[in-house]
Amino acid sequence: MRIKKEIFLEMIEHCKGCFPYEACGILGGKDSIATEIYKIKNIETSSVSYFMDPVEQLKAMKDMKNKGIEMIGIFHSHPYGFAYPSNKDIELSFYDVCHVIISLNPEQENLNFEARAFKIKDGKVYEEELVIE
Ligand SMILES: [Zn+2]
Repeated sequence: MRIKKEIFLEMIEHCKGCFPYEACGILGGKDSIATEIYKIKNIETSSVSYFMDPVEQLKAMKDMKNKGIEMIGIFHSHPYGFAYPSNKDIELSFYDVCHVIISLNPEQENLNFEARAFKIKDGKVYEEELVIE
């Protein structure tokens, strides 16, 4: 999966801004390149899980349809955890899209954040290459 640099930076800023809670949102684009970001409210207001506000999610879906782009990724942050899907992320992943996870783990010194991308299918996790361009 590829992400336009300005979209990537906006996503990281959003995740930092939501700290200590998980941030979440949708990445829209075409041909596996994310060119649009939809920051969506985490209605769980939690540090270990997220649930996207359904109204905001629907708005994002409509906007993508209007723009002729698709949902190619879902992103969320792990404020204290590693950049790897949690058991709950694996259980609740019902979209066949790329999952971008941004770790803000403050215990990882000298590391501001780490972003990795995964495909989750039938309870299995496959890492995808994440390219910022
Ligand atoms: Zn997660």
